[in-house]
Amino acid sequence: MKIAFTVDFEDWYQGVDLPMERWGSIEKRLHIGHYKLLELFQKYNVKATYFLLGKTIEEHPRFIDEIIKEGHEIGCHTYSHPFLYRITPEKFREEIRKCKQLINQFGVTYTGFRAPYFSIDQRSTWALDIIREEGFVYDTSIFPGDAKRTGMPGFNPKVHELENGLTEFPISTIKFMGLDFGVGGGYFRLLPYNYFKSKLEKILAHRSSIFYIHPWELDVDQPKISGLNSRIKFTHYVNLDSTEKKLNRLLTEFECTNVSEILSKHEYEQQQQNLYTYRN
Ligand SMILES: [Zn+2]
Repeated sequence: MKIAFTVDFEDWYQGVDLPMERWGSIEKRLHIGHYKLLELFQKYNVKATYFLLGKTIEEHPRFIDEIIKEGHEIGCHTYSHPFLYRITPEKFREEIRKCKQLINQFGVTYTGFRAPYFSIDQRSTWALDIIREEGFVYDTSIFPGDAKRTGMPGFNPKVHELENGLTEFPISTIKFMGLDFGVGGGYFRLLPYNYFKSKLEKILAHRSSIFYIHPWELDVDQPKISGLNSRIKFTHYVNLDSTEKKLNRLLTEFECTNVSEILSKHEYEQQQQNLYTYRN
């Protein structure tokens, strides 16, 4: 079983719940993590899936060209990174369309969506229909556990088709001291690598897993943002200097690829399974 390696492509201040009006005055540092990630993927010959933020595409079209040239998969991550349960369905559709318009300039096919902060939970399940209506084939926004600000405890953690035809690839989660941890991001930086690895191996023994990271998690010297609450501050800055080393281990020890490759294999296996059931 492989890991779907995903990147939420945004700058260091875009995923910490700061209003977009403040973004303009903050130092742009996306290039630091961007080139480190591209280099890592080249080194391990991995094709990943990048969920692009519309605002980032506007500001750095060259980075998107570079990602596409390297053969990575592209997906949509909205325009301005809102929590979906804080906005209306109309506003969400607008967010998706703006992002799609920006991606369309690059002339690539894309089929996947990821919500900012994995913010599709009981308050925002309506978003899944809009994602489907806007032409996406798969979604990877649901955290099947308690992530404090979001999450759906008890949600089917396997890749599966939703009633509306959208394929859902929920974020992989592991238990740590009774809490639900996501496979990636701040959780990845926080946990000792060997613990993370053994939990991941357990998931991979019976299903595919999905891992996520942000470019800024490789930017060790990023400035401190003022006015963040203590929990966000902690998860944003904890062990930033461990990311690169841990990613090198992850990419050495596990087979990683993009989401679409895993989903097409999954679909093939489902078909074989159906055929088998039909014959017997
Ligand atoms: Zn994000």
